[in-house]
Amino acid sequence: MSDLRELYQQLILDHNKNPRNFRTLEQPDRTSVGMNPLCGDHLHLYLNLEDGLISDVTFQGSGCAISKASASLMTDAVKGKTVEEAEAIFHKFQNMVTADIHTEPDLAEMGKLAVFSGVREYPARVKCATLSWHTLHAALEGEGQPVTTE
Ligand code: ZN
Repeated sequence: MSDLRELYQQLILDHNKNPRNFRTLEQPDRTSVGMNPLCGDHLHLYLNLEDGLISDVTFQGSGCAISKASASLMTDAVKGKTVEEAEAIFHKFQNMVTADIHTEPDLAEMGKLAVFSGVREYPARVKCATLSWHTLHAALEGEGQPVTTE
């Protein structure tokens, strides 16, 4: 677990400083806005769909290191996946960050996303870590309503 903690720190610092897919899309098929008023995280998600695949997904916004790193890793994780696969990862992610603290994350299944299992120790941080995923879900559903964690 201490190895995972160190990896958690490194990955989050790296993705916060140098977020992946941190840009807008010219002509997005879907967009969605997510807000976590408790922490002040705010993000705008853009995505393009092609034959049921998420062909591109990007974000812009501001917030804490965890929310930004989570959005960065989320876009990496779902790009090129089908909508169904992306929703499945969303559910697994949510289960992981709300699981009992003694439940080991499935590293093989979650890959880099497993670093966010560390937020279970800090309940307020769970909202930061899941914000981008809820925003993705809203964009895929095409709800068009801003997502808020409150
Ligand atoms: Zn936050």
